Amino acid sequence: MIRVTVWNEFVHERNSAEVAAVYPEGIHAAIAGFLSKEADLRVRTATLDMPEHGLTQEVLKDTDVMLWWGHHAHREVSDEVVERVAQRVLDGMGLIVLHSAHASKIFRRLMGTNTHKLRWREDEKMQRYWVMDLAHPIAQGLGDYFELPVEETYGEHFDIPKPDDLVFVSWAPGGEVFRSGCCWNRGQGRVFYFQPGHETYPTYYDPNVQKVIVQAVRWAYREQVQPFVTDHTQALADISK
Ligand code: ZN
Repeated sequence: MIRVTVWNEFVHERNSAEVAAVYPEGIHAAIAGFLSKEADLRVRTATLDMPEHGLTQEVLKDTDVMLWWGHHAHREVSDEVVERVAQRVLDGMGLIVLHSAHASKIFRRLMGTNTHKLRWREDEKMQRYWVMDLAHPIAQGLGDYFELPVEETYGEHFDIPKPDDLVFVSWAPGGEVFRSGCCWNRGQGRVFYFQPGHETYPTYYDPNVQKVIVQAVRWAYREQVQPFVTDHTQALADISK
């Protein structure tokens, strides 16, 4: 079983009737809902208002892959918890960063760049997500592209380090393109950023979006993490003799 924790700040759903109408139980519950239908996933949720934001050492030890949705309250996430999550990624936990979590503390910490910097616009337009890497495990079963009838426009330039795998580039009717599905290795962990998921749109009910997220969870999972030596060490042998 892959142990999954879906983290959500859970603010918009409680402050906005428009968002609550789309996600009455919260975005985390919608995501956990479709992930829980997969026989190989064991899913829990955690939110900002829980003690330690629901991300205690015990929860992190019991998590193989974490999903992160945030927007309004990035600054309210404690630096101590961010560092705890970052270290767990370096030790092999997978992290899937969703939509406006591009500006989250954890994503900025792991990327080391100003990942909050990009073009954006809420103009109720469709978005087309082109598959850049047809063989990639995250993109299986999608064809050459998929579309969302309405989603927020994000556009380049996106201040991220060059991705290790570029899985999706999205196109917006306004003329922008955006690296909307990107993979990185950090330490022994894997990180995937996936752009769709604005809180006022029903994006997380879309079958293609669900397929991508399920496949991303499986891709980000490390079955085994190898311990390695980082101390001052003696030579293994004297090969000059
Ligand atoms: Zn948004």
